[in-house]
Amino acid sequence: MRVANLNGRASLITTDNLAIDIAQASGGTLPHDPMQIFERWTQVRSLAATARGGVPFASAELDAPSPAPRQIFGIGLNYREHAVETGAPIPDTPLTFTKFASAVNKPFGDIIIDVPTADWEIELVVVIGAGGRNIPESAAWAAVAGLCVGQDISDRVLQRATQPPQFSLGKSRAGYAPFGPWLVDAASVTNRNALPLMCTLNDEVVQQSNSSDLIFTIPQLIAYLSSIVALYPGDVVFTGTPSGVGGARTPPMFLAPGDVLVSTIDGVGSITNRCV
Ligand code: ZN
Repeated sequence: MRVANLNGRASLITTDNLAIDIAQASGGTLPHDPMQIFERWTQVRSLAATARGGVPFASAELDAPSPAPRQIFGIGLNYREHAVETGAPIPDTPLTFTKFASAVNKPFGDIIIDVPTADWEIELVVVIGAGGRNIPESAAWAAVAGLCVGQDISDRVLQRATQPPQFSLGKSRAGYAPFGPWLVDAASVTNRNALPLMCTLNDEVVQQSNSSDLIFTIPQLIAYLSSIVALYPGDVVFTGTPSGVGGARTPPMFLAPGDVLVSTIDGVGSITNRCV
């Protein structure tokens, strides 16, 4: 099952890439608001099993699948090779920061580049279903609504402007959190612990890895976070980026207006963001 935010309305995406409006198809039993379906995920699954039809749509009509999350978590240094390329030790606790919600961007949205040190980070993004506190690892996948593709865009200078560094503002400029193009139901992704990720910049591969290389797995992250804070329906977790970011290159490379970033996770989807 795939669920998208199409022009502000929760929609099923069929295998033929047609959109079915969830509120209409459910006869009004389910809400149209994409933020209100996460608590009703089981009913959305039932609807998806029986809904037929659908209408074509353009990728520009897709908005972030959780457009107004109460919390967005980012996990730093969660791939070994990325920790190594930044010169940081392998963490023994998830390095957690937030991307503030005003940074949320559409999966095919433009990113405004008005600083010289904006960098890319393809990430597997998790959106929480019912949520809760103290979710054990064994129940963590059941707490996930779906998976999608994200870019944790980062202003490297702002990210490290203070000592000790506080990442959150440097990762929260306008448009720095595109994700989508839709949610793939976590229950229907057979290889959800081993998903190939690839990011291209102007058609050149800059990042290529597999989510099986995550240091802290998705169940471990959900158990860890929910042992401290409550996870709310629609909360978003950027699970970390593999190696190949621009700032760690010699010489460093950063995003500039005109660049095109394509971020793809096999079996999940692909997003495209133009730098302007
Ligand atoms: Zn990141």
